Amino acid sequence: MSKMRAVQIFEAGNADVLTVAEIPTPEPGVGQLLIKISWAGINYIDIYQRSGKYPMDYPATLGLEGSGEVVAVGSKDSNFKIGDRVCWAWGQGSYAEFTLVNEDKAFKVPDGVSMDVAAAAMLQGLTAHYLVTSVYKAKAGDFALVHAAAGGVGLLLCQMLKAKGVRVIGTVSSAQKQERAMAAGAEFVIRYDQDDFVKKVAEITQGNRCQVVYDGVGATTFEGSLNCLAIRGTLALFGSSSGAVPPFDLQRLNALGSLVVTRPSLINFIQTAEELNWRCNEMFEEIISGRLDIEISQRYELADAKQAHLDLESRATSGKLLLKIAG
Ligand code: NDP
Repeated sequence: MSKMRAVQIFEAGNADVLTVAEIPTPEPGVGQLLIKISWAGINYIDIYQRSGKYPMDYPATLGLEGSGEVVAVGSKDSNFKIGDRVCWAWGQGSYAEFTLVNEDKAFKVPDGVSMDVAAAAMLQGLTAHYLVTSVYKAKAGDFALVHAAAGGVGLLLCQMLKAKGVRVIGTVSSAQKQERAMAAGAEFVIRYDQDDFVKKVAEITQGNRCQVVYDGVGATTFEGSLNCLAIRGTLALFGSSSGAVPPFDLQRLNALGSLVVTRPSLINFIQTAEELNWRCNEMFEEIISGRLDIEISQRYELADAKQAHLDLESRATSGKLLLKIAG
């Protein structure tokens, strides 16, 4: 039986629980692809899984996203073949030399797109795509508030919203991140570590507030986000990097102006191969044309996954972090 290296956890905890283990290379079943991984993406959800916020069965191999080459195909009548370059956003076990991905969650990397960019684009890019096309159809002239605007999802949201003519207000925690968010298309960037963002949003919008708030920060921003919305505005709470939002009285949505609050997850927006392909085709077209920039800010070796988690959790990072497996 052949073996491979994988970053596993045997219990929930801080970054110290990440362990490089030698485990059997898996074999593909019907509908699955065995992939030799080039690059794996680091995402905030990996931290929720590692810390126990999202419970898992142990031992578990972390990582949902990556790019690589198909080395075995489980089905006889597959749309994929050995040698295909593929990428994915929902394939548990991607911090490893090999992984299994369900065919309906794999996408062929388009010609002209490098394997690192393909891995970097998938999870955060498809998230930004569904948030601006399906959760709230942002349109020209809208004001949108994007929290953590220089983060992985944040930079992509800024670019996609700007391209639609939306007026983007970002929040960030440092001067360097402020610059990055502006460069990505935010018209205004608020230092929410220093200033009251609700007051600033009211000033910028001359009291009219925003049609939509994209909030992946959660505990520290949720209350303020509600107060940044115009009548019938939408709050997309898509993450909780600062901690979970406490239980919430729905009656408050009435009092605040018939607001909509939703808590979406990517998996529900790439339910079928058709839906995945539609989003990927649109996203990669933008990347190939140069209109959508995928900013890879840090690359780590597989054995340095712990450092990558420490960096992401410490709020020190901007854009995308990747693990180099065989890139
Ligand atoms: P980011 O690169 O955005 O990193 C998280 C950022 O959150 C930090 O850089 C920081 O930006 C901000 N932040 C604010 N408070 C804290 C805190 N207390 N601790 C740590 N970070 C904090 O990560 P991702 O792009 O990977 O993910 C962004 C969010 O989107 C996450 O909540 C993630 O779970 C969510 N997500 C949800 C998906 C879905 O489908 N629901 C899919 C993908 C991601 P700053 O320093 O500027 O405050």
